[in-house]
Amino acid sequence: MLNDRNVASPRKKSDVNSSAKTRHFVDHAATTPLRPEARTAMVDNLGLANPSGQYATARVAKKVLEESREEIAELLGADPIEVVFTSGGTEADNLAVSGLYFKAAGSDIVVPPIEHDAVLKTCRHLEKEHWARIVPAPVDSTGRVDLEAFPTLDRNSTALVTCMWANNETGAVQPISEISALARKARVPFHIDAVQAAGHVPIDFHSSGAATMAISAHKFGGPRGIGALLVRRDVTLCPHNNGGGQERGLRSGTQDVASAAGMAAGLRAAVSDMQAEHDRVKNLTEQLTHAITGIDGAIVHTTQPTLAGHVYASFPGAEADSLIMLFDAAGIDCSTGSACSAGVNRPSHVLSAMGVSEPEARSAIRFTLGWTSTQDDVDAVIAALPETVMRARKAGMA
Ligand code: PLP
Repeated sequence: MLNDRNVASPRKKSDVNSSAKTRHFVDHAATTPLRPEARTAMVDNLGLANPSGQYATARVAKKVLEESREEIAELLGADPIEVVFTSGGTEADNLAVSGLYFKAAGSDIVVPPIEHDAVLKTCRHLEKEHWARIVPAPVDSTGRVDLEAFPTLDRNSTALVTCMWANNETGAVQPISEISALARKARVPFHIDAVQAAGHVPIDFHSSGAATMAISAHKFGGPRGIGALLVRRDVTLCPHNNGGGQERGLRSGTQDVASAAGMAAGLRAAVSDMQAEHDRVKNLTEQLTHAITGIDGAIVHTTQPTLAGHVYASFPGAEADSLIMLFDAAGIDCSTGSACSAGVNRPSHVLSAMGVSEPEARSAIRFTLGWTSTQDDVDAVIAALPETVMRARKAGMA
């Protein structure tokens, strides 16, 4: 079971980087270990009351909640009222896409095929149950939205445009400002899934031009189970749950104050050393990418501009599941980056959209480095790589 202890997140960063650790965690895009600042903030605030109460103990909780909201807003270029706490990125994406759709006159949803399932499946649900029409925004062979082929937007028929800031599998940074300009020109609301980007690249919600933006705490060192949807002041959304009217009436339910405090502290820590961390992680990632390109037949799918810690690569002739099992046995935690269902390794929808063949897509695995990654981690992966690929290739494709 993945938890903060066995993904090497004890209390101090020095412990995290200790050579005594036996596992090498290179799956930071799935979840990154809790930062010590976030842990402290959570522990300090675990016992707080319901922030909606009308008495002194509740006011203490309310103060912590609102200070956390203010801090997150400040770090992301938003106003505090625009931060709507959710249970994570999935809920934020669902709320944005369906919330914008149900308030719109049009029924078309413009969406690239490389989006996370939190967006894609919401669009499909709206199509199946609520008369929406999915209009794909094609991507090129690098996995970026092809602006030349971008669908024409029309305020009367287009309900919303949605696009992720950076892809969770390839790391590819998308042409967000260009898409935002197209949406603004057509006066169509734009949702950005910034779950992989927040805390890793500079984000300014107001200047992004987005109506809504999803973020998730556990991708930048905050706790799991909390995230936020940034919702511009002038944007109205249809809420998808009803109750006490918390969070601007968009997300009813008693807030988790300790997690909100942990999220704010995690984001503050991530943003405060963002540039130095970016350069450090990029250097480690480049070493790993270089080693991968030295493997006969390997294909690297991650291209510039990208998030600093991503390397997504295929090793044709080897099944991704075998590679992951062998890396696991060698003490290395990595992933396919695509959805595995009932033990069946399905080719990634992202690679398929990029035109990668099915056998190549089925041999793709993702390494993602982050704030706890060390030279030791990268050396371990590089050392295990040739034999792991050789053994997986021997096992062959299913
Ligand atoms: N969007 C993207 C791009 C993601 O990578 C993820 C998680 O992997 C999500 C949304 C869902 O976020 P959460 O795990 O917080 O629900």
